[in-house]
Amino acid sequence: MVEPIKTDVVIVGAGPIGLFAVFELGLLDMKTHLIDILDKIGGQCAELYPEKPIYDIPGVPMTSAQGLVDALMEQIKPFNPQFHLGEMVEKVEKIGDPLFRLTTDQGNVFESKVVVIAAGGGSFQPKKPPIPGVEPYEGKSLHYAVRKMDRFRDKRILIVGGGDSALDWTLNLAPIANHLTLVHRRSEFRAAPDSVNKMMALVGEGKIDFLLGQVTQLHGANGQLSKAIVKGNDGSMHELACDALLPFFGLTMKLGPVANWGFELKNNELIPVETSAFETSVPGIFAIGDINWYPGKLKLILSGFHEGALMAQKAHHYVYPDKRLVFQYTTSSTSLQKKLGVAPQAPQPAA
Ligand SMILES: Cc1cc2nc3c(=O)[nH]c(=O)nc-3n(C[C@H](O)[C@H](O)[C@H](O)COP(=O)(O)OP(=O)(O)OC[C@H]3O[C@@H](n4cnc5c(N)ncnc54)[C@H](O)[C@@H]3O)c2cc1C
Repeated sequence: MVEPIKTDVVIVGAGPIGLFAVFELGLLDMKTHLIDILDKIGGQCAELYPEKPIYDIPGVPMTSAQGLVDALMEQIKPFNPQFHLGEMVEKVEKIGDPLFRLTTDQGNVFESKVVVIAAGGGSFQPKKPPIPGVEPYEGKSLHYAVRKMDRFRDKRILIVGGGDSALDWTLNLAPIANHLTLVHRRSEFRAAPDSVNKMMALVGEGKIDFLLGQVTQLHGANGQLSKAIVKGNDGSMHELACDALLPFFGLTMKLGPVANWGFELKNNELIPVETSAFETSVPGIFAIGDINWYPGKLKLILSGFHEGALMAQKAHHYVYPDKRLVFQYTTSSTSLQKKLGVAPQAPQPAA
């Protein structure tokens, strides 16, 4: 077995609620590792609506969803959380009282006294491309994400899609590929215009190919692709030799492995918690944010922030069973200010 990464608290999910939990746990001296299946931080805010304005964060009249994520990252910097992106937590086992072991799909193992499930609507999973017979190639020569760019060095790559992922990976992989073709079914792209312009420039320089059409057939053996057939929008047929296919057709949300962690789920998708600390039926495992359920629950970011604050108070008992917890304000506690790396404010004279 691989050497486990040991820490005080493992947070499953790096959405806004997982991020703010780092702050509340950090103020109480608990170290955190966060694991997220996405290759970026910010959960739904970053993945689904980064540019949409949010108006209901207390004290912040307006911010963009990505702006909120960036601000949370700035706020938790003093606590140096460790991120493990592009990894899905598959298993959570109780191995002590309380001590938990978590295993990811990348084979990493974590051990912690407290687990915080901040998994939102569950795991984002790639939508399958409408190409018959993709299954034998999945994970071998057909990939829905790029975990290590070097895997694609000197390969003949076929990328399919017209969104940001398709265009970003076209631009990033073009310099290391043996040959790269982008296929998209429409001449309009959902990706950032700047990426589209850069892609078109590469096409103009003869560095990559672009085809308007759809992949209709895959050929290969033992999971290894050798060629793909593309039907052009003008009816022309193209036979493309390729070693790797990267389809980017967006993501859907599915509960994923959380369903197998032994909780009796509400409506088959939410983890019931009590409301004094948002702890699940397993002492030491908490569920906060969109993934939990209790009477009156509102799936709002501000609710998840409140849940994180109360969770941290109870988590402290598990991580430091012999230490008494004294409630303090960040405005007046010099010890909290030290943790935050801010200079203590001189007391203001009475008016
Ligand atoms: C279009 C839209 C607009 C919205 N507008 C607002 C608004 O104006 N105000 C507001 O308060 N709320 C709004 N919301 C809701 C808000 O985005 C959610 O309440 C919030 O994102 C919940 O945060 P979370 O951290 O609980 O979950 P999420 O943001 O869903 O993050 C959960 C993370 O957990 C990861 N994960 C799940 N399972 C695993 C696993 N097994 N292993 C590893 N990682 C895992 C996921 O990849 C994801 O990144 C909006 C939502 C949408 C879709």
